[in-house]
Amino acid sequence: EAFIGAIEHSNGALNAYVETTFDKARAQAKASDELLAKGEGRALEGAPLGIKDLYCTEGVRTTACSKILGNFVPTYESTVTANLWQGGAVMLGKLNMDEFAMGSSNETSHWGPVVNPWKAKDSNQALTPGGSSGGSAAAVAADLCLAATASDTGGSIRQPAAFTGTVGIKPTYGRASRFGMVAFASSLDQAGPITKTVEDAAIMLNVMCSHDVKDSTSLDIEVPDFTQFIGKSVKGLRIGIPDEYRLDGIPAEIDALWEQGIAWLKDAGAEIVRITLPHTKYALPCYYIVAPAEASSNLARYDGMRFGYRDPEATSLTDTYELSRSEGFGKEVKRRIMIGTYVLSAGFYDAYYVKALKVRRKIADDFTEAFKSCDVILTPATPSSAFALGDEKKAADPVSMYLNDVFTVTTNLAGLPGLSVPAGLDQHGLPLGLQVIGKALDEGTVLTIASVLE
Ligand code: GLN
Repeated sequence: EAFIGAIEHSNGALNAYVETTFDKARAQAKASDELLAKGEGRALEGAPLGIKDLYCTEGVRTTACSKILGNFVPTYESTVTANLWQGGAVMLGKLNMDEFAMGSSNETSHWGPVVNPWKAKDSNQALTPGGSSGGSAAAVAADLCLAATASDTGGSIRQPAAFTGTVGIKPTYGRASRFGMVAFASSLDQAGPITKTVEDAAIMLNVMCSHDVKDSTSLDIEVPDFTQFIGKSVKGLRIGIPDEYRLDGIPAEIDALWEQGIAWLKDAGAEIVRITLPHTKYALPCYYIVAPAEASSNLARYDGMRFGYRDPEATSLTDTYELSRSEGFGKEVKRRIMIGTYVLSAGFYDAYYVKALKVRRKIADDFTEAFKSCDVILTPATPSSAFALGDEKKAADPVSMYLNDVFTVTTNLAGLPGLSVPAGLDQHGLPLGLQVIGKALDEGTVLTIASVLE
């Protein structure tokens, strides 16, 4: 009831929830109360969660914040959310996001932007909570849920976490099932939580991750109890600091925060090693070829025929496709479809798409090589703190928006786990995050390191 009250009070200003499910929440909470009264209770018994609107929820509208799915009510449940309800969690509602998870500011949502609950101490300007999981991050930061699901294709868990002083982890590709998650770029998409603390992230991961025969890329591997890694000693662990992440033009306070993180880990007994990830500078161009290519293919299913928005004026099959897609998709989604179909077209396939796949392999190989001399990698999570909503420069120049993902896309391309942990405030009093990147399937060490930095 406290969370419901908080949502009723603050959601008008923040726009974090696009749909609330209070009746369902009350019914689930009642069942949890009854179990707890009997001395029983599962891992997440009674925990009130918000669900990013790209997880299909049976009988509850799921739009991926696109007009084209504006009337879509799934007849089935995503595996991740099914696991959560099975674990005793309570659903408060569906959370705002960039349309089809394409964006870094939550401004591409059909339902309008989310407002970051944080403000600079010297300005009243409304700030972005980041994206695409902006609703998830804002809801957790503003106490409109205890924790939230999110998803990360190129940084959409970690960047919003960094902008809102929350914890976000993208596990290894394949740890959590993608079944029932609206697809953006299937070889990069991964589910994960946004939480208040590193321990909460471990608790959420325990329940969200599972092997699932309904997702052919889901890993058939045991899910450890991630909470056992919290607060473990970091003595002797080797922390890699990549030279290539020291970028020109990054604010000095981001570098200072990074140095601070390094110092904390050193004090705790870790060993700091310099590493090199030589293909880092190709990561953004590579990502912005691979992700739109896969997106253009995934979004071909929205044809106005089977589900979602259909233009009422259309009189022929071609008109139905053209008008429904023209009106149903927003500007950024159309841009991605155009880039994607271009790089996949016969004349350019080898020059762009195949080349990007080769670069992707090189980026993954860089990590394999680097992890021979370190156990985890520490970097800043984002190149800035939360920026203003309605930033005209970013709106006019999509590449300047894409640059936000400079530190996060590499882990998606390589399939590795990455976490953002709040580590300090900038000169305006806004949160900044540090990113911990781990070896494949080694979320445990990532959580250990993050629990020291927290
Ligand atoms: N900002 C990136 C993009 O727009 C990443 C999005 C994501 O991780 N879903 O593609």
